[in-house]
Amino acid sequence: MDSDRSNHPHSGELHRRANQRVPGGVHSNIRLVGPQAYVSEGRGAWLYGVDGEEYVDYLLGQGPNFLGHAPTSVLDAVDEASRKGTIYAGQHPLEVEASELLCEVLGWPDMVRFCVSGTEAVQAALRLARAVTGRTGVISFEGHYHGWLDNVLAAPGPDGSWRAASAGQVPGHLDDLTVLPWNDIDVLAEVLRHGRDEIAAVIMEPIMINSGVIEPIEGYLDKVRQLCSQYGVVLIFDEVISGFRVGLDGAVGRYGVRPDLATYGKAMAGGWPAAALVGRRDLMEWFGSGTVNHSGTFNASVMATAATIASLTYLRNESPYAGVEEYGTALMDGLRECAESHGLPLRVAGLPAAFHVSFGDEGVTDYRSLQRLDLERYQKLAGVLVDHGLWVAGRGVWYVSVCHGSEELDATLLRFAKALNDWS
Ligand code: PMP
Repeated sequence: MDSDRSNHPHSGELHRRANQRVPGGVHSNIRLVGPQAYVSEGRGAWLYGVDGEEYVDYLLGQGPNFLGHAPTSVLDAVDEASRKGTIYAGQHPLEVEASELLCEVLGWPDMVRFCVSGTEAVQAALRLARAVTGRTGVISFEGHYHGWLDNVLAAPGPDGSWRAASAGQVPGHLDDLTVLPWNDIDVLAEVLRHGRDEIAAVIMEPIMINSGVIEPIEGYLDKVRQLCSQYGVVLIFDEVISGFRVGLDGAVGRYGVRPDLATYGKAMAGGWPAAALVGRRDLMEWFGSGTVNHSGTFNASVMATAATIASLTYLRNESPYAGVEEYGTALMDGLRECAESHGLPLRVAGLPAAFHVSFGDEGVTDYRSLQRLDLERYQKLAGVLVDHGLWVAGRGVWYVSVCHGSEELDATLLRFAKALNDWS
């Protein structure tokens, strides 16, 4: 994703300094391929660059800023709570309140363990599933992302088989992982039938968002649920992105299918680093008995639990989902119309709160069909969009926040049209 850096002297200088001290100039590899301008401030739906640029933000920190940047109610709650200390190596009232509130708004789980990142929540879920089933195998799905650790990070090799995605991964750590095409119930049924005594868990993004936004086809999640129950396999929904974004009760509420365990993060805490594993009491109690280890110095910190309570309280009381849906729908339509008037085959697909932009018009139901789209062409456009004041990444996933309104919609469509004019 290339963008024009010539009129960004301050960003350029920060890049130069960062590259001396920070590998690649970034602290998370996903940012190697994101917008490269330095940001001095985020407010609502906007980001402000160090060279005076103003961006309408559609990355929202890769999802967490569903309430927009610097949401006052969360800021105030964190400020007030953390003035009394941040970590006690003991329990505090806010963590009880946050746990109760999380279970209440989700509606189905009995218990919760807080942690810091989605990656950790997934690891806790997998360990628990292995402990309770006494099996080691895990089934995941092509294009779904569950964190950067050795036992889940996989990418397709030249022959299409899924293997270690990074140099340095312990190859054997993927031996227990089977990566299947998503939305294909027959393949899953077959693998479960053969591996019934070995498979501990099926883990999925119940809406595949990371690689391009694809919903489960009708009835798929129900059938996955049935199969997992039939074979005694723990069903884990990784709702780290979909949670609190596609609705207060996430994909579970949207499709009416309950997993055994689920992971949340990102939009849960209004931009603060917090994540959670939730689930059924009979499973989660394995942590409480000490049989399964789940630990972390910063788990359920005062800041994270204060942020979680403030964010969930806002989402429960204000229920901003209709507004987000309205904005996202208008934006998706506007992008399509604008591209059409430029004679460009832009594909805008997914949900209003999280959608995918690419070129091409293939029927897309899974990662393989997604690869038939012209993803590279969009990557090139993304750099031009950043230069025109739209904060997007080459991956093509756009997120909407509760702060996006008519001002942002007008600004976005104007900027998008100008970018297409300058690009084509
Ligand atoms: N699961 C999903 C579905 C995710 O999207 C992500 C992050 N993009 C993770 C897990 C890992 O979360 P974190 O980056 O907070 O470790």
